[in-house]
Amino acid sequence: MDAPLTRNIKSDGSTVTLAEYLAGGGYEGLKKTLAEFTPLEVQQRVKDSGLRGRGGAGFPTGLKWSFVPMGEDAPKTKYLVVNGDEMEPGTFKDRLLLEGDPHQLIEGVAIASYAIQANVAYIFLRGEYRLAAARLRRAIAEAEAHKLLGENILGSGFSLDLRLHTSAGRYICGEETALLNSLEGKRATPRAKPPFPQVSGLFGKPTIVNNVETLCNLPHILRNGVEWYQSLSRSGEPGTKIYGVSGRVERPGAWELPMGTTAREIIEEHAGGMRQGYRLKGYLPGGASTDFLLPEHLDIPMDYGSIAKAGSRLGTGTMILLDDKTCPVQMVLNLERFFAQESCGWCTPCRDGLPWTVSLLEDLIAGRGRPEDLETLARLCGLLGPGNTFCALAPGAMEPLQSALKYFRADFERYLQPQNINGGAHA
Ligand code: SF4
Repeated sequence: MDAPLTRNIKSDGSTVTLAEYLAGGGYEGLKKTLAEFTPLEVQQRVKDSGLRGRGGAGFPTGLKWSFVPMGEDAPKTKYLVVNGDEMEPGTFKDRLLLEGDPHQLIEGVAIASYAIQANVAYIFLRGEYRLAAARLRRAIAEAEAHKLLGENILGSGFSLDLRLHTSAGRYICGEETALLNSLEGKRATPRAKPPFPQVSGLFGKPTIVNNVETLCNLPHILRNGVEWYQSLSRSGEPGTKIYGVSGRVERPGAWELPMGTTAREIIEEHAGGMRQGYRLKGYLPGGASTDFLLPEHLDIPMDYGSIAKAGSRLGTGTMILLDDKTCPVQMVLNLERFFAQESCGWCTPCRDGLPWTVSLLEDLIAGRGRPEDLETLARLCGLLGPGNTFCALAPGAMEPLQSALKYFRADFERYLQPQNINGGAHA
């Protein structure tokens, strides 16, 4: 099975040097790009490949690029920004790529920057990713020394200044416009759209924000072609995906697999199945801000369309499992506490609604819940849902709760029976 993104990742946790990367065909995609294609041809290839953003939203990458003004009249300064602010609970796939193969990301950044004619790129990195930061700094220096970055890359006339920015750390910085505000030194609140960053982004200039895994696909697409890329998949959506599993399995981790691999294969074969004594009760397929699915959904292909049809989102493709010995209400409370703490406070439904959600769940678990509280929680899911808040944080925060109320209602109702309350846990 072809796993281009992780083919260089070493099992001992060490990183790939420039010499090793070059020996494996590294930077061939960039060389080919600069020698054979115009920026618009690169955009078209990426469009044709069908690559969708791997940060969670799944927007088509080539289409996103095509909104950037191009040609003689386009603004002279444009930016490419890498979203490396991986802060969602349960999500750790980008860390694997950042630490294990930083040159692959750098090559992807150079290709994307060429495609939109940006001469400055930033990697916006989660502050806690110190090992990734150190390895990226070294890799950037290596690439600059070998004319793979900087002035007149490989004699092509294209120049790129790549800068690493380590974030002070806030979940909302993963939202692209909040990320841009943060990069400008402002408070990290999302911006109203339009204008979209492709037209007016960093410092008011055209800007593309792409996720780490998305960019790592580019060297391979440009080097090996669109048909090869599409052949990697098992479903109608092309390429591979780094899927992850956390929870009570034998081997939690992340694996690069064909797009469309089923959750059953990921959990049972790659993660080694549930640990002895535990049964799978449900799973969040794409990280903490997605809806629960049930064991009956395990054979659905893990791709954007199929997971959406089942009522959830592929998100980052990193599953969080719920087992039969973990209380779904307490698991959801844990997540809601995280989201309430990370709300940027800009809009009322999210700023006030998330702490209210937390206090209702805390009261329920402490035995102070009233039957009508479950209706209030369900109502909050709508009030904080899509279209009612400024950005997607609050709607995402409601996804695990609304699906838990649907699938695990009995677990919520059990807390309404005083005899079942035992120090905050089910009797
Ligand atoms: S939904 Fe929450 S995080 Fe997003 S802008 Fe509103 S307050 Fe901020």
